[in-house]
Amino acid sequence: MIRRRSLATPTVRGHAGFAGAAGSPATPNGGRAGLAGATAFHWDVPGPYVVGFTTRTGGVSSGAYESLNLGILTDDDPVNVVENRRRACRETGADAETATMAWQHHGAEVRRAEPRGIVTPGTLFDRCDGLWSDEPDRAMMLLTADCLPVAVARSDDGEPALAILHVGWRGLLAGIIASGAEALGRGNLAAAIGPGIGPCCYEVGDEVAESFRRRFGSDVAPEGRLDLWSAAERALHEAGCAVVERTDLCTYCHPELFFSHRRDKGLTGRQGVVAYIG
Ligand SMILES: [Zn+2]
Repeated sequence: MIRRRSLATPTVRGHAGFAGAAGSPATPNGGRAGLAGATAFHWDVPGPYVVGFTTRTGGVSSGAYESLNLGILTDDDPVNVVENRRRACRETGADAETATMAWQHHGAEVRRAEPRGIVTPGTLFDRCDGLWSDEPDRAMMLLTADCLPVAVARSDDGEPALAILHVGWRGLLAGIIASGAEALGRGNLAAAIGPGIGPCCYEVGDEVAESFRRRFGSDVAPEGRLDLWSAAERALHEAGCAVVERTDLCTYCHPELFFSHRRDKGLTGRQGVVAYIG
């Protein structure tokens, strides 16, 4: 197992604990070749936590959804999506029958995970953008296709607790990260930021850029581009995360690994994060 390190700014991120899966270790700089073929890569976090960030690899969907599309609210065949969700769960050891998802809407609400199951099309989920649990084996899944999948874990000696968050620009400004930390009772927390659109590709309008400069500092929105990774990292530190690990993998830049809503102009699938207390 080889640890990945942050790609963009490797000197300041410190320990970045991510490992490729499917017998395909990530390489220390770049990691693309190593991650090719991996259905998910795992956050190597202390404690009884299992957190996997999925790629688009290893599923059964085709065309724009090739291949591990986890999003059922697309034009993909729901039968394929269900099989893909089962595969993502198998990869991480999660129970798809009792896992839950969310009706994501770019807000700041975080709900306790209830065992709904994620393999029956039409299942209703809570309208929220974060899920948390302190119960063992209560798996949670959230979907992204440029937004950041974020995991936050309690890292002190107390009872384990884990949250996953869907973090786009709206949710970040609305306070989704603070909500996630509060759900875990604050204290000592560690966090991981999964793959999402990077400052290389994320063009935003003046209004969004200015909101981020005001909130997070002028350097998070240089020249019409938004560094959502760094803004999320700052929000996580503010919320009490002593350790924040970043994948720094841009979904737009890596069509072989990730779906990207912007790159594919909306006609695309969804990757995501699967997590539970083991
Ligand atoms: Zn990019």
